Amino acid sequence: MNLQDFIRDVPDFPKSGIMFKDITTLLKDPEAFKTAGDMLYNFSKNLGIQKVAAIESRGFMFGSLLAQRLGVGFIPIRKPRKLPAQVFSQSYTLEYGEDTLEMHQDAVLKGEKVLLHDDLLATGGTAEAACKLIEKAGGIVMQVSFLVELAFLNGREKLEGYDVVSVLRYNKE
Ligand code: AMP
Repeated sequence: MNLQDFIRDVPDFPKSGIMFKDITTLLKDPEAFKTAGDMLYNFSKNLGIQKVAAIESRGFMFGSLLAQRLGVGFIPIRKPRKLPAQVFSQSYTLEYGEDTLEMHQDAVLKGEKVLLHDDLLATGGTAEAACKLIEKAGGIVMQVSFLVELAFLNGREKLEGYDVVSVLRYNKE
């Protein structure tokens, strides 16, 4: 099975010039969903992971599945003002402007081994900010995993020093 066949390209979403990689077409196929989940699980199963953190909102699908399969707790990393208790905040630069991610201060314990997951790696700014949040809490980022990697945007450069893995790599748009 070629999992790339299950990713739908949507041009000019959410704005002109962006080729959006739609993963809902993979999620709705039970076999493709299972295969992708197995691959992500295999990347992380021997790392002694103690928590899985995932980025709102498309990271939550595989993130929570990974937490269950690894037998560990799940941590949502969210956009500002979504989490109710005390948070750590981390801002990062986008192509135009800035954005912020938040995580509950008590989500990760000091020294805990954390797997960070998101659906897609583009320029890497989002995942880099999430790594900083985990580290602010004293966690250790053991691996950063993605379903899709847009390798031509060199997001790995921002994540240098981390174990970065992906199921599907695109070398050109
Ligand atoms: P970046 O910070 O540039 O690595 O962007 C990654 C975040 O933006 C992820 O949470 C993705 O869900 C989303 N994203 C960026 N580019 C795309 C794209 N072409 N298709 C789908 N999602 C994208």
